[in-house]
Amino acid sequence: MRITVVTGAGMSAESGIPTFRDAPAGLWARFDPQRLATPEAFEEDPALVWGWYRWRAALVLRARPNPGHLGLARLEDDGHDVTVATQNVDALHERAGSGRLLHLHGSLFASRCSQCAAAPAFEPLREYLEAVPAEGAREEPPTCSACGGRLRPGVVWFGEGLPEGPWRQAQEAVADCDLLLVIGTSNLVYPAAALPLAALEAGTPVLEINPQPTALSAHANASWRLPASEGVERLATRLHQSAGTENLLLPGKWKCRARG
Ligand code: NAD
Ligand code: ZN
Repeated sequence: MRITVVTGAGMSAESGIPTFRDAPAGLWARFDPQRLATPEAFEEDPALVWGWYRWRAALVLRARPNPGHLGLARLEDDGHDVTVATQNVDALHERAGSGRLLHLHGSLFASRCSQCAAAPAFEPLREYLEAVPAEGAREEPPTCSACGGRLRPGVVWFGEGLPEGPWRQAQEAVADCDLLLVIGTSNLVYPAAALPLAALEAGTPVLEINPQPTALSAHANASWRLPASEGVERLATRLHQSAGTENLLLPGKWKCRARG
């Protein structure tokens, strides 16, 4: 089966990575993450923003893929044609072994110069992270060896456009799938939030996995109120039981287009 998966911060919650809507910790408790993740915040106070990404990188590298990430990667071993389009920048899907992965919001581990866009020889968000205190700390960003500009994280900040290639491929993967899974996203941040809507419009079955209701819940063909790990496990079990989508979800609204 061709399965496209859209994931958000909730996918990594069981790995101990807080979502944007969880209360921030330590030094960051006073700051709204949605305000730190902007070009304006970096311009105004680069050490604050860089320090926050250093803290997040340290957290992420200590974390491990959870059974939800691993279960998605295993669907490929079961012979399904899986594309994961993630809003997460934590690299946990690749560490879990997902093969076809689209980074809609970039990666923590792809820093570049904020002036000339050159990539540094060594990824500074992987280096000396043991020096980052548990509660986080301000830290000046390193400078670019080509032009002296400040390095910035390779993530898409609020107000910035999505990388063209991954975005186009995600739209294609949504247009071409038999089932769209939407896991751990509040589905509020556009344009990523438009992907499930495109699937619904095309008549493709949409299954949401999220312990909380979201803007998408009322429209999805099914919405399982489960954490990612349990939802992916339930999906894998149902896929083992039946090759098609017919028995997958199933409250009455389920409609399935006959496809391959
Ligand atoms: P969000 O914080 O808006 O929403 C998180 C969603 O996850 C909520 O709907 C919540 O109910 C759900 N959730 C919580 N625990 C869950 C679990 N165990 N299993 C499944 N779902 C669970 O996150 P978002 O929708 O991804 O959008 C906000 C932005 O935050 C995105 O742009 C993303 O790039 C960024 N972000 C990324 C990370 C990361 O890389 N891990 C972390 C925080 C934020
Ligand atoms: Zn430069």
